[in-house]
Amino acid sequence: MPEGLEAEIWTRAAQAVVGREIAKVWCDERVAPLGFVESSTGATIEKVRRCGKVVVIDTDGSSLGLHFGMTGRLEIDGTAPIPRLEYASGRDRAEWDRLRLWTVHDHQTSLSTAPALRMNDPRRLGKLTLDADLSGLGADCLTLTSDELTAGLGRRRVAIKSALLDQRVVAGLGNLCADEVLFHAGVAPRRPADSLTPEEIESIGAQCRRCLPRLLAAGGSTHGELSPEVRSAAGPCPLDGAPLARMAIGGRTAVWCPTHQR
Ligand SMILES: [Zn+2]
Repeated sequence: MPEGLEAEIWTRAAQAVVGREIAKVWCDERVAPLGFVESSTGATIEKVRRCGKVVVIDTDGSSLGLHFGMTGRLEIDGTAPIPRLEYASGRDRAEWDRLRLWTVHDHQTSLSTAPALRMNDPRRLGKLTLDADLSGLGADCLTLTSDELTAGLGRRRVAIKSALLDQRVVAGLGNLCADEVLFHAGVAPRRPADSLTPEEIESIGAQCRRCLPRLLAAGGSTHGELSPEVRSAAGPCPLDGAPLARMAIGGRTAVWCPTHQR
């Protein structure tokens, strides 16, 4: 469930660790490449940035990638910028930790303190990467232009919802944000991508730039009109009161309004 917006929240909070030296690293070897601990220990964190849904920690050696899967979450200096993920367990068990990374800095020289970065992932669908090639990602969802979306879609004939979830088309969109953007753009999720008019593509790009920063400011991808409560009830459309529709598209549940989304 963590989407680009959640990764953006963690990336912003993780700016606190920039400039620090990594003192010690522990990781769950089942989700990390060989050499992850050796490559990161002793390195200095130079930059923390987001690529789509991935948080990338650039050091003076390797770049460490944090991929959150369906239930991954991040704590920075013992604090969770997002306290609880929707659809994930509200519990926090140490055996679900996949990364613990301690740093050395002025006020924290003891390894007994909370890790500077701690990734916890109950379902273990996330992973850690070293120097991952993320060049295949599409344009970022928060700044998407209609030209970028047109180029990303190419001649794809799949449902527009499926195309928007393809990270090569747009980077950072997940299930909730894709539904939210289509809801505001007035485009039905089942529409074949190659049937969209230039105006509809423009509208989807505009809604990415308009809706997503608003959701980000509100706390993330669950704060839209199609909130988890509205989605699970499949009640009336928040805009026009018509009954919402819900069905699986590309293996993910799509929620939309058949009245104003055409
Ligand atoms: Zn509606």
